[in-house]
Amino acid sequence: MRFLVPASTRSWVEVPVDSHFPIQNLPFGSIAREGAPRLVSRIGDLAVDLGLLAEAGLLPLWLSGAKDASDLVRWEDPLAFRSVRATLAELLESGNSRLRDDSALREQALFAIDPAAVRLPMRPGAFVDFYSGVHHASNVGRMFRPDQPPLLPNYRHIPIGYNGRASTVVVSGTDIRRPHGQTKGANDESPSFGPTQEMDFELELGYFLASGNPDGAPIPVDLAEDHMLGLTLVNDWSARDVQRWEYVPLGPFLAKSFATSVSPWIVTLDALALFRIGGMPQDPEPLPYLQQSGRTQFEMVLEVSLQTARMSQPQLIARSNMKYLYWSLAQQLAHQTSNGTRVEPGDLYATGTISGETEDSAGSMLELSWRGSRPLAMRETGEMRTFLEDGDVVTMSAYADGEGYRVGFGELRGKIVPA
Ligand code: MN
Repeated sequence: MRFLVPASTRSWVEVPVDSHFPIQNLPFGSIAREGAPRLVSRIGDLAVDLGLLAEAGLLPLWLSGAKDASDLVRWEDPLAFRSVRATLAELLESGNSRLRDDSALREQALFAIDPAAVRLPMRPGAFVDFYSGVHHASNVGRMFRPDQPPLLPNYRHIPIGYNGRASTVVVSGTDIRRPHGQTKGANDESPSFGPTQEMDFELELGYFLASGNPDGAPIPVDLAEDHMLGLTLVNDWSARDVQRWEYVPLGPFLAKSFATSVSPWIVTLDALALFRIGGMPQDPEPLPYLQQSGRTQFEMVLEVSLQTARMSQPQLIARSNMKYLYWSLAQQLAHQTSNGTRVEPGDLYATGTISGETEDSAGSMLELSWRGSRPLAMRETGEMRTFLEDGDVVTMSAYADGEGYRVGFGELRGKIVPA
């Protein structure tokens, strides 16, 4: 049922060698054309209008007029998106003349991507953020509970998470306004209200659901991936000073709810299948409903760069890897539904911050600057950063290298604008 485009396959569409979007990727997204949203895929630097190909009889008719990835959701066939992607790969394969030689249709259906017209790939109905990056959880523990073990006793038993805010999920390129919040410094007698002084990012991946569990039945861990449409990059913007004051005892609330950015392209698990690896050892053994075998994790490079208003180009500040997740995507979804929670197509689940093992692989400013005690130097301007300042642009990227090609997510950008 999984549909892999072989490494040797090439397209008649020219794809730059370092592109994240060869024929092996074919993600889903949404772009406005003449003001109207259209469901698209992407190859190289071109978008492919899937609704238009459906109207021309080259893709299933139910995709006619499709606006975004929510139009891929089919309750009668939740995995239909896989065969759509398989048919698209056939149409774009170098030896296939059907679309290649129909210049009128080709020129309508394939078009250059205007970054300003890129939309959310689909509007999530719910947003959940997990805490599955074990090095991030350990770093935060070391900073905030220095005299205790870095991981709390529950960490290796439960995929920790919280319900986030779906209405403020925005697409890459959307400016992020510095939020106001209530904070209280260690030496302050009482809290005050104002713009956060500790604006931060969190490097994460996330997945959109293609299907839910209408009866509320728990989704078994071994079937969980079949409910996922695909992955996006996620930046879970965080106000650390607000978070520190508000999070006891119920967890993050307004420190996170003001904005969450996602990359424009939903990359399917099929496109990532060749980058599967075994997960890190889970000790103690998880409870039976979380037990999963096989290659449950993915080897994928994650990068963060920062460009201040004075810099002419971004500076790479962190390089991590998806393999540092303790809990797999499937374990997260199995856990979420284990109590009978009804989940729905379009729901967005994020992994939690994915930090690596070293100082330069941390997925947040909190860790990179070690709570502000170790400022980062910007080489070009000599500026120092502990947390983000107005005008700073954070860009995240993720990719994996196959034999002679690269599959990735493109860029996830966000600029901090004044409160
Ligand atoms: Mn997070």
